[in-house]
Parts: sequence; C-alpha cells; structure tokens
Amino acid sequence: PTQPVLAVRDLGKRYGSQVALEGVSFDVLPGQIFGLLGPNGSGKTTTLTCALGLLRHSSGSVHILGHPSERIFETKGRVAVVFDTPVLLRNHTILQNLTYGARLRNQTKGRGPKEVLELVGLSGLEKRKASQLSLGQMRRLSIALALAGSPEFLVLDEPLAGLDPIGVREVMALLGRLRHEGLTLMVSSHRLFEMERLLTHAAVLIEGRLAALGSMEELLGAGGRVRVEVDDLEKTLGLAQQHAWKVLAQRDQELTIDAGSSPQEVNRKLVQAGVGVERLAPARSSLPDLFEQLVDAREDSP
Ligand code: ADP
Repeated sequence: PTQPVLAVRDLGKRYGSQVALEGVSFDVLPGQIFGLLGPNGSGKTTTLTCALGLLRHSSGSVHILGHPSERIFETKGRVAVVFDTPVLLRNHTILQNLTYGARLRNQTKGRGPKEVLELVGLSGLEKRKASQLSLGQMRRLSIALALAGSPEFLVLDEPLAGLDPIGVREVMALLGRLRHEGLTLMVSSHRLFEMERLLTHAAVLIEGRLAALGSMEELLGAGGRVRVEVDDLEKTLGLAQQHAWKVLAQRDQELTIDAGSSPQEVNRKLVQAGVGVERLAPARSSLPDLFEQLVDAREDSP
C-alpha cells in the first residue's frame, strides 16, 4: 500500500479551555492536491501547524512521510511550507533572496535559481528588488524559495490571501503547474471558487471538526441531480410532479432536477412522454453549495 505523505489521526488541540480541534482524521496521499477548507476560525491553521509539528497537539497523532510530526526535521527538506505573509528580504533582489535561502538551508543540490524562477514565471526579474514586486509576484517568489529545496510535499497556508484578480490568476496557474511536477500539495484556503478547480481532495472543517472529507468527485458527485434542456417545459414540469422529481432550478428551457435516479432513467421517462430532450447531463454540485449546506446543517444541530 502507498504510504501517506500525511496521516492525521484523531487530532485534537486545545488552547487553554478552548477546544480548537477535535477528532480530526485524514490522509494525504502522494500526488494529491489536498485542500483544508473551512470558515474563519474553523481550525485550518491549527491543523496545518500541528501537522507540521510547529505546534504541539493535545491528542491524537500526526505522521508526515512516516515520521511523527514532532520529529519533522527527520524528513530532511522533503517538506516545505509557504505561509500567507511572504518572508523576504525586501531590499534585496529576487536572485539574492534565492541565494540566501539556499545558503540558509545549506542546499547543495536540487533546483537552482534559474530553474525555480522559470517554474514560478519570474524569469528575467532576477535583479528586481523584492520590495518592488506585486503581492502576487512576492507570493510566487516565496513559492520559488520553497521549491528550491526540491521538496516532495509543499504546504501552502492561504496562498490566495490578499491578492488582486491578476495575482489570483498567476498563483492559481502556478499551483496548477506544480500539480504536473508530481508534487503533493496541501493548501488551506477559504477561496472556494478557485479551490474547486484546483483540488483533487478536500477536508472541510467547521468549528474544529471534520464536516466533510473525500475526493472532489465524492464531495461534489451528482447524486440524483440532472440538468436537462427540453422543448416542452409544461410537460416536463407535469412529469416532475408525477414522479416526485424536485425541480431545483429553472432557466428558460433548462431545468435542474433532483430525480433521485440515474440520468438514463430521467431521459427514458422524458422521451416516453414525448418530450424532446436537447441536452441532458449529470449536474455536479459546487464547493460553495456544499459549504453552505454544511454550515447550515451545523447551525441547525443543537
Ligand atoms: P482558521 O485557520 O480556520 O481561521 P484557526 O486554526 O486559526 O482557524 O483557529 C481555530 C480556533 O482556535 C479559533 O477559534 C481561534 O480563535 C482559536 N485560536 C487559534 N490560535 C489561538 C491561540 N494561539 N490562542 C488561543 N486561541 C487560538
């Protein structure tokens, strides 16, 4: 069996009497782009810092590349972290920042400055001072610093925080490219729209507990929902009533239906009733929808 890059078991964390995390378990496997999602204060940063052994957890266990998180140093450069605030020498150039970073890490092998700058799309800006970079460029330089050590597992805390739309696009494009470099990524974020396009797997935290966990397919799977475009709206709505299909949305001739059965079955019923079906496809849920449902469910529970 594949060894998880990160194995979190029944993780709990208290700050004094306040419970920040309770019973959190999940694995991150090689090649996954794993998202830690949740509203502010739900425990994302606490999970991340405990997972990296930077903060001592109160209960449970964490293994990172097979080592207990308390001894993360034993992973010897195979793990790198990018925090939301770039830690850079502002009055030094991009190249100097990279050179100092390598010296600090005593790095003798791995990706050189040229290679990492290419990877993060900052080639040609070697001589520019860090203070003259946009926040998006700074974030990419921080990622370049992390990548210079050739880590296998890259952890990013809120990589999109504070960025303008161009910055978001640049960093998203970079994270997408890293996915193809074979890196395993763990990303904390509350930018659901972007994360939906990036992640392969996600854990949703709400008030320090795991509210959902799985692959994006599992989390957003269509269930019994289909989107259909029909030539006869009247007849379709009649059928919906007859078969107790729930009409979730309607725009012109297009309906989103929760039929609780397969798309084939819905198609058959429509065609049998003489409705012309222009298009019919399983309707995936979205991360923002899932999120809303989880938060509502939490608020409804006592
Ligand atoms: P997120 O990253 O999802 O915004 P955090 O992990 O930062 O959430 O916080 C989870 C909970 O723990 C919050 O209620 C927060 O107020 C609390 N918390 C975080 N850090 C500390 C700390 N150093 N001392 C006390 N409480 C903290």
